[in-house]
Amino acid sequence: MIKVAVIGCAGRMGQATVGAVQAAEDMELICGIDAHGTDAEFPVYTKLESALASEELEVLVDFTQPDAVAANLKTALAAGVNCVVGTTGLKQEELETIAAGAINGACLFYAPNFTTGAVLMMEFAKVAAPYFPEAEIIEYHHCNKKDAPSGTAVRTAQLISEGRDFKSSAPGKETEIAGGEGSRGAEMFGVPLHAVRSMGYVASQEVIFGSLGQTLTIRHDSWDRNSYMPGVLLGIRSVLDRDGLIVGLENFLI
Ligand code: NAP
Repeated sequence: MIKVAVIGCAGRMGQATVGAVQAAEDMELICGIDAHGTDAEFPVYTKLESALASEELEVLVDFTQPDAVAANLKTALAAGVNCVVGTTGLKQEELETIAAGAINGACLFYAPNFTTGAVLMMEFAKVAAPYFPEAEIIEYHHCNKKDAPSGTAVRTAQLISEGRDFKSSAPGKETEIAGGEGSRGAEMFGVPLHAVRSMGYVASQEVIFGSLGQTLTIRHDSWDRNSYMPGVLLGIRSVLDRDGLIVGLENFLI
């Protein structure tokens, strides 16, 4: 049985992960950690340090918040605990620095998106990238999401830039009318990004490629947080015999 803890266990993704780990035959939910605490039937600590001092853990799953995740990972990896991370907001260089602090061959696995559909959307976008002079990304999330743009959108932009040797036309090169600055979006890795926040969404994304007289749109929708869980469980199973930093679920799918 893989001994698993979930930090952020009272949150939306944390609750779904707790349920998935409890239902997995090869995993044991040792404890949760959450600033709120919970009235759950398993032990819940308000501090990660307390959980590490009291419990024997093999894998920590982090679904907290961008301002908390770096400290959590440093603490867990310094204790030799493998980390599976869905919390977005960390840059590649930060992940590399954090992973360097691991002991006993602990692995840091970060997936900007745990759904197979989003991983395929990103792979398809990379393949299409060199054939279209224009590419833009529109991501749609629930209105309680605290960061923008999403980790998936940033990763998609990075993969598009790796798949081609040119940039899309920069946002803002047009004359934006007074008060409407930013209406062409942000630009990361040479790709314009647009973030929509609204009730009704879990997470969706469109990648729109344009060339003379045609567009190609690649779209993925997560309608339910359970869509992430097979990927989270695959991550938990996969980190045990890996070490160092691994970014992207595609590393375990292919
Ligand atoms: P959420 O509902 O706000 O849950 C986060 C939980 O973590 C909250 O209960 C929060 O408490 C708690 N928390 C924050 N800092 C903590 C700390 N230092 N120690 C212990 N608990 C802490 O957020 P969510 O919707 O579940 O999303 C969590 C993260 O996952 C976000 O970054 C989101 O973008 C990301 N996400 C990733 C994927 C993926 O596939 N990679 C998919 C969906 C979401 P407070 O409310 O007190 O802060």
